[in-house]
Amino acid sequence: MLRVRSIRAGYGDLTAIDDVSMAVGEREIVGVIGPNGAGKSTLLRAITGVVPLTAGSVTWCGEPIDRLPTDARARRGIAMVQEGRRLFASLSVRDNLVLGAYHADRATRQAAEDDVLELFPALRDIRGRTAGVLSGGEQQMVAIGRALMSRPRCLLIDEPSLGLAPFIVDEIYRTLPTLVELGVAVVVVEQEVGRVLKVVDRVMVLHEGRSVYEGSGERFRTDPDALASVYLGHE
Ligand code: ATP
Repeated sequence: MLRVRSIRAGYGDLTAIDDVSMAVGEREIVGVIGPNGAGKSTLLRAITGVVPLTAGSVTWCGEPIDRLPTDARARRGIAMVQEGRRLFASLSVRDNLVLGAYHADRATRQAAEDDVLELFPALRDIRGRTAGVLSGGEQQMVAIGRALMSRPRCLLIDEPSLGLAPFIVDEIYRTLPTLVELGVAVVVVEQEVGRVLKVVDRVMVLHEGRSVYEGSGERFRTDPDALASVYLGHE
């Protein structure tokens, strides 16, 4: 469904990722792991178009999308939850959610909101509350919920566990297989490897802007040193 081929992207003179390829199939969960600064967020930004490519291509269901603006990519079904949640702090939970589907008609929006509340029942009672006063976990649920309001077919999530208590992270990760059942493919970027390995179909390891491994996560689940050897093998 989503195909990234040998892409290069960065910021000004800095090349943050180079020659990175990945594929995401329908209803798949793909984990992108790697140390700080490896280029994980840049990969997601290159897929959504926030950062332009300087080489390579991105295709969606066979169509090249790397020259399309970000909103056109979103309309095709690619949504992103940015690192740090980025909610509208002074708006209510409900308004934050609605903004994720501002282009949809009322009935579609209501149906999307019902789905989000089913996925995150904890949001039901706090719909009227101002987003800025919520806990980090609640904010992360709203951020994921907002992205889901556009009914995406592929959801890119940047470091959902950042700064959250472990039980909340568990709760968030528990929803990922449900998303897949609803027909959404998920790409999740994480530094906290253990958690992500439990849910992914495949994993991609980035190191210093390059892809150093792509395949099953099994190897890292069973051998705690495997990740270190993958990094070291490319230094
Ligand atoms: P982290 O987990 O710290 O977010 P990451 O693997 O997601 O790391 P990126 O955020 O993609 O890595 O960063 C890759 C490189 O690009 C790093 O050298 C970083 O300093 C640089 N970089 C990231 N964002 C910007 C930006 N907005 N402007 C300039 N350089 C940036």
